[in-house]
Amino acid sequence: NKFIFVTGGVMSGLGKGITAASTGRLLKNAGFDVTAVKIDPYLNVDAGTMNPYQHGEVYVLEDGGEVDLDLGNYERFLDIDMTSDHNITTGKTYQHVIEKERAGDYLGKTVQIIPHITDDIKRRIREAAAGTDVCIIEVGGTVGDIEGMPYLEALRQFAHEEPEENVLFTHVTLVPYSKNGEQKTKPTQHSVKEVRSIGLQPDIIVGRCEDRLDPETKEKIALFCDIPTEAVFSNPDVEDVYHVPLMVEDEGLDQYVLEHFGLADEALPAGER
Ligand code: ADP
Repeated sequence: NKFIFVTGGVMSGLGKGITAASTGRLLKNAGFDVTAVKIDPYLNVDAGTMNPYQHGEVYVLEDGGEVDLDLGNYERFLDIDMTSDHNITTGKTYQHVIEKERAGDYLGKTVQIIPHITDDIKRRIREAAAGTDVCIIEVGGTVGDIEGMPYLEALRQFAHEEPEENVLFTHVTLVPYSKNGEQKTKPTQHSVKEVRSIGLQPDIIVGRCEDRLDPETKEKIALFCDIPTEAVFSNPDVEDVYHVPLMVEDEGLDQYVLEHFGLADEALPAGER
């Protein structure tokens, strides 16, 4: 199994989910079996009880699971049917761990966020990924949120446990324009600094911007965030989100990911995707 973790910085609603789903679509086009997991760091067990005015309409899965509408993006982009096991919430994780504690399964141990909650998060990710080639895991919210911390710690441990070539971190950030029309990289720099302070190093940075990122912007992000310039991609504003896979394909995102995973030789040739 290969795992792609997608985190977001600066603010929510950037297009992290769309970026994650687009990456998945390109890998599927290259001939791989792709699935996705959405992590929602709230204490609700599922989205069924949440106000649709705040979160959008609840999305109902084939198994009856009531989940965040982001899972709809994955089902449509990847042309797959997901189950409620593909939506990890803090509510679900804690409920399970607390039930086990009540049943005496921890044999008198002190039950803690690390390792018990983080172990449960890692188990859920591995189970959802079982039987597929690539699993894309989107961490909801923004890096630095208190609610998201146990998940980022779980990802850090996950990366430590897996061979290096099986794990890839994508960080999606905002690249705003200044009044004089310059693409500004400072929010990205700060956000990557935050990611690194928790022990994660992005392999790929995707900048959401009104337009494509200029070559100078990419070079600057690469320099400050310690990744190759070829690992910086644009997610520009588009009329139709189904164009995003084409945008990132055009910049070579799929090829970069396949090479990172050592899958380039197994992939369908570019002309047949
Ligand atoms: P996040 O996961 O960062 O909260 P989403 O992927 O859910 O963000 O996207 C937030 C909103 O922005 C959605 O309505 C989505 O359709 C829209 N969006 C995402 N990417 C783009 C894009 N490149 N151009 C235009 N709209 C986009």
